[in-house]
Amino acid sequence: MSATAASSVFDDALRNLDRAFDYADIHAEAIERLKHPKLAIEVSIPVRMDSGELRLFTGYRVRHDDTRGPGKGGIRFHPGVTLDEVKALAFWMTCKCAVMNLPYGGAKGGVIVNPKELSHMELERLSRGFIQRIADFIGPDTDVPAPDVYTNSMIMGWMTDEYSKIRRQFTPAVITGKPIPLGGSEGREDATGRGAYYCLKEMESERDWTPGGITVAIQGFGNAGQAVARLLAADGYRIVAVSDSSGGIYRASGLNIPALIHAKEAGSHLAAIAADPTIGGDAIDNASLLALDADILIPAALENVLTADNAAQVRARHVVEVANGPVTSDADAILRQRGIQVLPDILANAGGVTVSYFEWVQNKSGWYWSRDQVHQRLQERMAAEYRSISTLAARHDIDLRTAAYAQALGRIGRALTAQGTREYFIGGKG
Ligand code: GLU
Repeated sequence: MSATAASSVFDDALRNLDRAFDYADIHAEAIERLKHPKLAIEVSIPVRMDSGELRLFTGYRVRHDDTRGPGKGGIRFHPGVTLDEVKALAFWMTCKCAVMNLPYGGAKGGVIVNPKELSHMELERLSRGFIQRIADFIGPDTDVPAPDVYTNSMIMGWMTDEYSKIRRQFTPAVITGKPIPLGGSEGREDATGRGAYYCLKEMESERDWTPGGITVAIQGFGNAGQAVARLLAADGYRIVAVSDSSGGIYRASGLNIPALIHAKEAGSHLAAIAADPTIGGDAIDNASLLALDADILIPAALENVLTADNAAQVRARHVVEVANGPVTSDADAILRQRGIQVLPDILANAGGVTVSYFEWVQNKSGWYWSRDQVHQRLQERMAAEYRSISTLAARHDIDLRTAAYAQALGRIGRALTAQGTREYFIGGKG
């Protein structure tokens, strides 16, 4: 069954645990623990709208696991948010932080809202209101939020300020992804896309790619999609198609990425930009983009983009998951069977949370790093974890997703078993 709206994204995400179990040093009890989030709360947030009307918004925060450190993970503002989705996203954060060996567990939050329909003042009231509701469940050493889909550094700044007011002390380490003047880190803004780029550079040297000969299609042209497009294009990769929720733009010889980013920043949708002759390109819809004959396909928007219904149409040789959960488990099986290599989200998009960790370390120490230091440390970590997963995959002849989960589970498993397993306690009795 594919993870359609009727089925559970969380249950679908858990299927990876069973696949990786055979290759990971982890006790079955630990796997069982990971199947149940530690804490899940639902809150309602009353917001006085500019019209004077009162509206109630629903929000969630899920702490999936905190065995290896405080929960860590973003807050998403999206009309499609559900508790089930937030649980899946929190589970992926636990695995992602373990893949990168960051001293964190996993968490996630979400508010059911279309932020594009709110004024700036309404958005600020909603952001502060959400923190008032979840303040008792977050903190620098319990659970550390960050940006996610449709939230940004300014929202993180408001949220940190609200938390600091509640605690009556400046507490920058409670939330990462803040504006730089408010304790944010250099290099956090483009860290998710940059982390994926560093993984791709490892793939490039493993496979001896010549960038000019490699074509790339990117579904989702928000923060992460733009960053990876910009960095790859600067190296000479041919970005032949990009899309957003309005539609997409295609050009066989390669798109002018800086011009597209400039037009997006000026407020245009890609569908409108495709009609602009100065940028040059043909309109393409999202479904055709996913089936393009490009070397690399990068889904960089939301989950469940490649499903059992369209995975057979994918013609790319590599799929790089810059979004969280863009490939359902059914689609993953189809891609595996067709020999299409998938670089999994818990590694490919881990650059964001890695620089969040750098930000948290800087906030706690009060000692700030330069942009070059952030880039260099991110590159070292991404390259090291990519290589160890690639080596594990080659050693067992398994796909990169299974290898990434095996690496994560090994680290989580060692932490959980250090607290004792059935054998330890029974042994103690006897
Ligand atoms: N929302 C991002 C993710 O899914 C970043 C999380 C963080 O920085 O804590 O990885």
